[in-house]
Amino acid sequence: MNQHARLETAPIPFVDVAAQRRRLGDAIDKAVGRVLAHCQFLMGPEVFEFEQKLAAFCGAKHVVSCASGTDALIMTLMAEAVGPGDAVFCPSFTFCATAEAAALLGATPVFVDVRTDTFNIDPESLKRAVATAKKIGLRPKAVIPVDLFGLPADHDAVSVVAKEDGLFVLDDAAQGFGATYNGRKIGTFGHATATSFFPAKPLGCYGDGGAVLTDDDALAGRLRSVRIHGQGKDKYDNIRIGLTARLDTIQAAVLIEKLKIFPDEIAARNRVAQRYAQALGDVAIVPQVPEGYTSVWAQYTLRLPAGRRNALAEALKAQGIPTAIYYPIPLHGQVAYRHFPAAEGGLPVTDAIVGQVISLPMHAYLDEPTQDRIVTAVRRALGR
Ligand SMILES: *Cc1c(COP(=O)(O)O)cnc(C)c1O
Repeated sequence: MNQHARLETAPIPFVDVAAQRRRLGDAIDKAVGRVLAHCQFLMGPEVFEFEQKLAAFCGAKHVVSCASGTDALIMTLMAEAVGPGDAVFCPSFTFCATAEAAALLGATPVFVDVRTDTFNIDPESLKRAVATAKKIGLRPKAVIPVDLFGLPADHDAVSVVAKEDGLFVLDDAAQGFGATYNGRKIGTFGHATATSFFPAKPLGCYGDGGAVLTDDDALAGRLRSVRIHGQGKDKYDNIRIGLTARLDTIQAAVLIEKLKIFPDEIAARNRVAQRYAQALGDVAIVPQVPEGYTSVWAQYTLRLPAGRRNALAEALKAQGIPTAIYYPIPLHGQVAYRHFPAAEGGLPVTDAIVGQVISLPMHAYLDEPTQDRIVTAVRRALGR
């Protein structure tokens, strides 16, 4: 095999965490080295510095960092005393953690359909889900819109429905942190925002991490208490049931460095998305970013006619190009979640798109030759 042929089939990573590591190399080593020197591994100075910088980045008043995106969701629902008898509305087309947080606290996740064009929560389906919850004797308590694949949900429309029933709005921005909606950054919509620093998320650390963002002073105080065993004056004064859900100082030190290049990475992801859209818009349904929105492209997800997806995945795999299906089974079809209620009339969009979606490699370090190789392979597989 000659050099050229070898390059043409060299495996492409789906998310290239190593490329970013190379770019940041020295700065990260130094940042981690400082923590190793001062030994304040929990609640060290980097944790507070990172919280301030993240708040400044997105314009939220308070940032409460924590151990994962899932903990960010759980902590917020705990701080709002969500529990048995409460309905928590969320899309079925999402990662399981969105609904898991509610179920873990004994509340009832009620599944809502999404829109075909954005993959995000459908406000009309949300209204139907609220009616469903009331009919079966649940208290409508909270809604968790998700900024899926990096694109903000329609936060104004969600807020209108939420106000009618006094719902607490918790934005699940694990995939959308860094995006904007009508000129404002994610982290400032609803009553609180949960995000994740899982390594493959747009802003990831080198392990697990997360944060809750809110403008509500009292809620921020309760979150800081829940984060450390429901502490009052200190952790030996326990005023509520809490968790051990702190962000490690080492992860905070990594995140301080990564936040510096995050705007640049968001721009790079958008360039990749633009080139994909130009090159593939005539062979597949490419994602659309509505007017007034920006995306951070946690995933670049195509829609294909049902039945064509597996052939595309196989053809790409044979050429060293990975793809992923987010999500093959909607939450309302999962063994652990299918006994929970869904909006009346069902979730027809969710049921259809789970058979159509396929995500292509997407990250800030996907260079143009590699992207061209992916595009050529996709076009060839789809017969163009
Ligand atoms: C990743 C993710 C989470 C959970 O984040 P972790 O940090 O892995 O706990 C929650 N919601 C959505 C939509 C996610 O994509």
